[in-house]
Amino acid sequence: MNAPNPSTQDPIAIARALLRCPSVTPAEGGALACLEGLLTPAGFAVHRVTFEEPGTAPVENLYARIGTAAPHLVLAGHTDVVPPGDTSSWRQPPFAAEIVDGVLYGRGAVDMKGAIACKVAAVLDHLAARSGKPKGSISFLITGDEEGIAVNGTVKLLAWAQARGEKFDHCLLGEPTNPERLGDMIKIGRRGSQNGTLVVAGTQGHVAYPELADNPVSGIVRLIAALTAEPLDNGSEHFDRSNLEFTSVDVGNQTVNLIPAEARARFNIRYNDCHSRESLRALVERRAAAAAGGIRWRIDWDVSNADVFLTAPGPFVDIARDAVAAVTGRTPRLSTSGGTSDARFIKNYCPVIEFGLLGQTMHKVDEHVATADLAALTSIYRRILDSYFS
Ligand SMILES: [Zn+2]
Repeated sequence: MNAPNPSTQDPIAIARALLRCPSVTPAEGGALACLEGLLTPAGFAVHRVTFEEPGTAPVENLYARIGTAAPHLVLAGHTDVVPPGDTSSWRQPPFAAEIVDGVLYGRGAVDMKGAIACKVAAVLDHLAARSGKPKGSISFLITGDEEGIAVNGTVKLLAWAQARGEKFDHCLLGEPTNPERLGDMIKIGRRGSQNGTLVVAGTQGHVAYPELADNPVSGIVRLIAALTAEPLDNGSEHFDRSNLEFTSVDVGNQTVNLIPAEARARFNIRYNDCHSRESLRALVERRAAAAAGGIRWRIDWDVSNADVFLTAPGPFVDIARDAVAAVTGRTPRLSTSGGTSDARFIKNYCPVIEFGLLGQTMHKVDEHVATADLAALTSIYRRILDSYFS
């Protein structure tokens, strides 16, 4: 199962070794063993830690550090991948790591074994230029549970590291951030995500005698209209407007002559830094209350672990932006767009930004990366390391 370890600073060779590991969540697939085989000889103290809890599969994770001094830069990522789906529809087998015309194919090529390979190659190269010793400390924080339910991954690995006394100054996460070309976009934050269910109570009755009943359908329609009538805000310096999106309206009534007793509507809000989770919930409830009149309603809020965050532009963001610009010739946009990532957990420990490969083929059939992009991303990471530890 274990892939052969490429004893090299070549990101393409490392990426191919990682892609040959079938590490579909929660399987380790040899991917962490591959990283251990590269990092241990370079002087890293490598820890393989397995987390589990009732009802979930145990998942392996890796934490590796070199150096004891500050500053401490942590390079984060995940080696697990989503399933390949129907392998016969792939042009190249999803775990063969074939290169055709300068393009490397495989599940995880961009999300995100390719970026991990670039980080490892850049770090080994950076260390070799300094006789193997970093000026501060460099760590790899690699989880095997990002694409799944993400309970035995980064959350627990960060807590484990903190319990050991690890202190991080900055984190660079390697998710695919570029929409079209390498150099398009650095992510400096992410919107928060909050799910809820609007529940309207009525009184069940016969459709021919509506005066004896209270139909919750008309009430929920009115509240849905009220909650989507106005934007939640007008955006902020680094964020688009928050958005409340209804995803399902459910009455579940199979009977043609029955007025139902209850109606429900599920929604998701992606929210920006105009709100905290608490102020957001209060705002939505105020708007519902203002429109409700005699409607009997409540909102059931789901537990959420995806709060909004922003890593404000400053020296750390500048280092990354300058490195991207120097290698690609493009000035990347500083963005907070897209879904959530493990950055939502890391931001509780240190400022975190994200820069990786192109996102276009992630999770798709024929996921692939240009080998030229792997070389360029390695140069970018190498520049970031050199500036950060200058
Ligand atoms: Zn990913």
